[in-house]
Amino acid sequence: MPDFAHLMTPEENAFLDMMTRFAAEELAPRAAETDETGAFVHAQLAALAETGMMGANLPEQWGGADISAHALFEAVAAVAGGCGSTVSALTAHYLATDSILIGADDALRARILPAAAEGRMLGAFALTEPNAGSDPADMRTRAVREGDGWRIKGRKCFISNGGVADFIVVYCVTDPEAAHRGISAFVVEKGTPGLVPGRVEQTTGLRGGHVWELDFDCLVSDGNRVGPLGSGFRTAMKVLDNGRVEVAAMAVGIARAALAASVEWAKSRIIGGEALGRRQGIQWMLADMATELNAAELLGHEAARQRHAGQRFTAAASRAKLFASEAAGRIADAAIQIHGGYGYTKDFPLERYARDLRIMRIYEGSSEIQRNIIAGQLLS
Ligand SMILES: Cc1cc2nc3c(=O)[nH]c(=O)nc-3n(C[C@H](O)[C@H](O)[C@H](O)COP(=O)(O)OP(=O)(O)OC[C@H]3O[C@@H](n4cnc5c(N)ncnc54)[C@H](O)[C@@H]3O)c2cc1C
Repeated sequence: MPDFAHLMTPEENAFLDMMTRFAAEELAPRAAETDETGAFVHAQLAALAETGMMGANLPEQWGGADISAHALFEAVAAVAGGCGSTVSALTAHYLATDSILIGADDALRARILPAAAEGRMLGAFALTEPNAGSDPADMRTRAVREGDGWRIKGRKCFISNGGVADFIVVYCVTDPEAAHRGISAFVVEKGTPGLVPGRVEQTTGLRGGHVWELDFDCLVSDGNRVGPLGSGFRTAMKVLDNGRVEVAAMAVGIARAALAASVEWAKSRIIGGEALGRRQGIQWMLADMATELNAAELLGHEAARQRHAGQRFTAAASRAKLFASEAAGRIADAAIQIHGGYGYTKDFPLERYARDLRIMRIYEGSSEIQRNIIAGQLLS
């Protein structure tokens, strides 16, 4: 398979080698148990913090690893190859820190980002509401002036890390007359009176990367406002451009693991006196998996290239997320097929890969929403 080392500096390649080893040695051996028990990935995130990965999306100025978008793509893919639950919690943390990096002033950045980059503070990104998922501009959570601060009232749902996060970036309506230009973001810190986490959703996959319903009736200071009033929607959309490339990277990382397991199985499984991989039907499945995977990698790195060059990469991010999440679903399904009945058991990771991947066609904008964005750019 092609590798992408030429896109990165020697230091970035050394970081990736370390992350790949870390994922294989520290994450992969715990992934099945995490899926089985559904325990939140606290220990994995603490271990990741030691590698610098909690701040890999941030510049050095704010305590981050300051790596290129290509290296970030590969590092996220490496973590995903080890544990889907861990990478999902990690990238939800990136959505929170990206919100502050992109939207906030330096005072708020200085308060949150260095600690978040070191993994001393875990973040959550709260955009979705019970009646506003694909169309977040239809949100109802309000932030209203109260004294020197803001009263935040409303309900968010499906918030990754929400119940354990040290800080939550909450997107709220500050001007109901101004549609999406009336949305602003605020930081709500853990322990703020009136922040009430509900139950953990019982999800199909990513069982150790929990999502919560969150109720808010809290007072926060004006210093917790993320940038100018009315800038929240624009910030969220920019954050999601980054996030969609990261979802593509997660899908690629899991698909790589599914393909590697399938190649190994095709070589070692003996049926009818010869290796399974001698059958042309199996070879063709492997060839299609490798081809789709490579296309997903290339779309991901094209979006990363545009991101790194400072270009507007919204449509490239959508293409990468759309294709990678759908291709990875097909690859995981083929991997189960190649493993036969064994692929359908919990003795192998394939069925977990398929379950963990399924949400990647839904969150951070479903496949349908990505198609709307791509078509919108074509027709604009
Ligand atoms: C595990 C998990 C983690 C999550 N983490 C977070 C998080 O950290 N923060 C956060 O804010 N949210 C998070 N979410 C929420 C997620 O982003 C939403 O579920 C997603 O955006 C879809 O919204 P919805 O569920 O309300 O579906 P709906 O918006 O109700 O959509 C239902 C269906 O209609 C389709 N549809 C909707 N509009 C259109 C359209 N215009 N054209 C064509 N089809 C359309 C959709 O594609 C989908 O198939 C998470 C969800 C899950 C399950």
